[in-house]
Amino acid sequence: MIEIKCPTCKKQVAWSKDNAFRPFCSERCQLIDLGAWADGSYAIPTKESPTDDEENTPTTPPENEDE
Ligand SMILES: [Zn+2]
Repeated sequence: MIEIKCPTCKKQVAWSKDNAFRPFCSERCQLIDLGAWADGSYAIPTKESPTDDEENTPTTPPENEDE
């Protein structure tokens, strides 16, 4: 069995296909690492940026239903 170290918490974790979060030990560590990427802590270029240009904020005027 192959064991690797979780890049986030350095815990020994088995590299198996049962581990959906490999090379991380858990989803939490995966998310932490992704957060680090977004933070610019990692210098490895990725072209996959999430589509955050969908800022659909409808400007609904406030309704005064008291009148
Ligand atoms: Zn971990």
